Amino acid sequence: MATFDSVSPARPAEVVATLPVHTAAEVDAAVAAAADAQRAWARVPVPARAERIGACAAALAGRKHELARLVSWEAGKVLVEAGGDVQEAVDMAGFVAGQGRAAWGETVPSELASKLAWTSRQPIGVVGLITPWNFPVAIPAWKVFPALLAGNGVVIKPSELAPRCCEVFVETCIDAGIPAELLQVVHGGAEPGEALAVHGAVGAVSFTGSVATGRRVAVAAMERGPRTVSLELGGKNAMIVRADADLDLVIDGAIFGAFGTAGQRCTSTSRLVVEPSVVDELVGRIVDRAGRLRLGDPLDPATDVGPLITAQAAERVAAAIDAAVAEGARVACGGKLRRDVPHCGGGSFVEPTVLTGVKPEARAAKEELFGPVLAVLEATDLDEAVGIVNGVEFGLSAAVYTRDINEALRAVETIDAGIVYVNAPTIGAEIGLPFGGTKHTGNGFREAGTHGIRQFSQVKSVYVDYSQRLQRAQIDNRPPVPGETGA
Ligand code: NAD
Repeated sequence: MATFDSVSPARPAEVVATLPVHTAAEVDAAVAAAADAQRAWARVPVPARAERIGACAAALAGRKHELARLVSWEAGKVLVEAGGDVQEAVDMAGFVAGQGRAAWGETVPSELASKLAWTSRQPIGVVGLITPWNFPVAIPAWKVFPALLAGNGVVIKPSELAPRCCEVFVETCIDAGIPAELLQVVHGGAEPGEALAVHGAVGAVSFTGSVATGRRVAVAAMERGPRTVSLELGGKNAMIVRADADLDLVIDGAIFGAFGTAGQRCTSTSRLVVEPSVVDELVGRIVDRAGRLRLGDPLDPATDVGPLITAQAAERVAAAIDAAVAEGARVACGGKLRRDVPHCGGGSFVEPTVLTGVKPEARAAKEELFGPVLAVLEATDLDEAVGIVNGVEFGLSAAVYTRDINEALRAVETIDAGIVYVNAPTIGAEIGLPFGGTKHTGNGFREAGTHGIRQFSQVKSVYVDYSQRLQRAQIDNRPPVPGETGA
């Protein structure tokens, strides 16, 4: 059996886990087992399914510290952020459990007498989930819990860069009472991922990852059968700063948004679009703060910025910084690939980097770099700033900092993104509202909030006619209204 090692990004010689590379035949067996289990699960009343999911919330909360250390070790997130990753899963389980007794459909008045009309939500069957490395507990939770509540069997293929986190997440859910056969994990990279996405018995594929992979997955999945494919892809998120903004607040937000998780969040702030009158002061103060961030072992609570997930990822970010300079940008701070960080032998880090003088058409202003790099652009008025924010192929998250309520609300209205913040950075979405983006960031689905359940269920419209005669909608007269001609 072929295997692969999951390693610590901070110290790649440290093996976190050795896992099998599942073959297409093993993916097939996982789907078959989940399909079998799903038939019984679909008959469990929704509130009873929700109870099991509620138990997962408690079980995950009980293992939060242990899971957070694993996220930190395997995905390189600093401890406090790793704890947030796990907390998001706890919160999502609690939220989804509550949905088990919430409204699931619509009831509309029928146009005919003695007739009822409502919708219900039905399971899809088996759903295939493909997840990225950067939220190795939270993103599986975003997908697994709504999928289970809707009555589905689940086969999940986590990223090969953080598979152990997903395994422990799934083990915790199974220990808490989710039937083991119902929730299957397969491991490896593109091969098992594709086998899952194109499997004939997988009725819905839910993918989160890069644009390039998402496009490939969607094409392959749709070519090989009728199914829904939901895509949650990359971002190029921007923060607009107007001259009247509270600059202390902007600086806190920019530092957290751009350099948290070493810039490796889909919602990371990678562009700052600033009114020219405050750009020098703002850049000076951000550079000062960024220069004081401590690179280090993510398991050390004193560390601010951890490693990039792989050496290749760090090299790609460093090359993008060089390319930005070649296109006319100036490195105001950082810019270097570092492999000499104490206690992190072999780990690849990129210094928190601020690029100034970036033109809206430059690659650094358009492409997702997925590293701790903040590109500063200038815009005199709000319309110009929003034009820059919207001038990319992504539409995930954006922020506007101003004290002017009218400008804030104009920005909210005109920014083309799935998530907009006022006076808060582009990262930090809560699980109660839908999460997802416009343009190439996604294909219209949303996760989290009450929307989470939709991609994992099918709507059934139900009519019940108890008039005991044939009534023909749109053809037969509705009962006459008193006073109407013929009444
Ligand atoms: P990735 O695209 O490299 O991998 C994502 C998943 O796809 C992994 O599980 C991988 O093994 C699998 N995969 C690779 N090739 C495949 C194939 N041919 N068929 C099926 N599966 C395949 O992404 P990543 O590097 O793990 O994650 C980073 C990306 O994810 C960034 O672009 C980030 O913006 C994005 N992301 C988006 C969101 C969101 O909600 N919009 C959230 C987190 C991350």
